[in-house]
Amino acid sequence: MQRIFSGIQPSGIPQLGNYLGAIRNWVSLQADHECIFCLVDMHAITTWQAPEELRRHTLTQAAILLASGIDASRHILFNQSAVSAHARLAWIFNCVTRLGWLNRMTQFKDKAGKDRENHSSGLYVYPNLMAADILAYKATRVPVGEDQKQHLELANDIAQKFNHDYGVEFFPQVEALIPTAAARVMSLRDGTKKMSKSDPSAQSRIELTDDADAIALKIRRAKTDTGVLPATLEELADRPEARNLVSIYAALANMSAQQVLDQHQGQGFGPFKAALTDVVVQAIAPIGAETTRLLGDETHLLNTLRLGAQRAQAIAEPIVSEAEKLVGFLK
Ligand code: ATP
Ligand code: MG
Repeated sequence: MQRIFSGIQPSGIPQLGNYLGAIRNWVSLQADHECIFCLVDMHAITTWQAPEELRRHTLTQAAILLASGIDASRHILFNQSAVSAHARLAWIFNCVTRLGWLNRMTQFKDKAGKDRENHSSGLYVYPNLMAADILAYKATRVPVGEDQKQHLELANDIAQKFNHDYGVEFFPQVEALIPTAAARVMSLRDGTKKMSKSDPSAQSRIELTDDADAIALKIRRAKTDTGVLPATLEELADRPEARNLVSIYAALANMSAQQVLDQHQGQGFGPFKAALTDVVVQAIAPIGAETTRLLGDETHLLNTLRLGAQRAQAIAEPIVSEAEKLVGFLK
């Protein structure tokens, strides 16, 4: 059975893109993989988080993952900072990765924008920590959204250079599992920007704990053009906002985008948005309700994460200890 590792930052409440790009895939991969799911709190602090918010978001995120169908008794769910192997391997990788490689990372450029001098060095070396997250478990498959593809290619470069520098075939190559539908859900306010849980505008995203009214309002206010839905996908090419709504609909209704157009062509955005709202509410609202129930028992959530961390530690410790030995650290 292949081992999967995947993570999500407790930098906010998970949004629809996280669900379609990652979480939904995680749930189905549980059937035939050994899965390790991580709330990557160390990644979250690469941009400042209010401590109490970070704590709250970590717990809420654990509840959301369980509510979405992650099975923490058969698989592993924990928070990253509880297993020190991540930080230790990340330091080694900081010394393996070349600056030129990091300079090519588009996500750093997107997140730092023009003000790059004022961002943390953690944000810059984030992909090294991400490589360590995966390789500390020698995981071979990583289900992620399309935005993480470049970071996974870097993880493979790091693994290869480590193996080359220390003359051993130690770390495996990893394979990105990117969904075919809605691999990059776009912001509801700007069809050229990806939906993000850390975007300052809550109107730009649907959060997995939004209730039916909040979902309806956000979809009603979503940016669109003044046209109607066309008959073919080609006609959506330069209409990013319309294309995004169609692809969300398709992914949640398990249809192709063309099938959605076949059903709704000629319709204006008023009726289409109402139909989309129904589809989103049906998929998301049960997760919100179950999350609220799970958050009622904080002790149980904390125990679930603690147990997950112990099991994660048991896998990562021997691997990272061996990597440290290969580097020449006294053990
Ligand atoms: P942040 O803004 O803090 O970076 P985020 O919304 O990008 O938050 P992450 O925790 O960075 O979320 O990513 C968790 C997972 O969700 C990753 O696998 C990522 O590829 C996926 N993901 C994030 N945003 C989207 C999106 N808009 N569409 C599809 N997948 C996404
Ligand atoms: Mg992100």
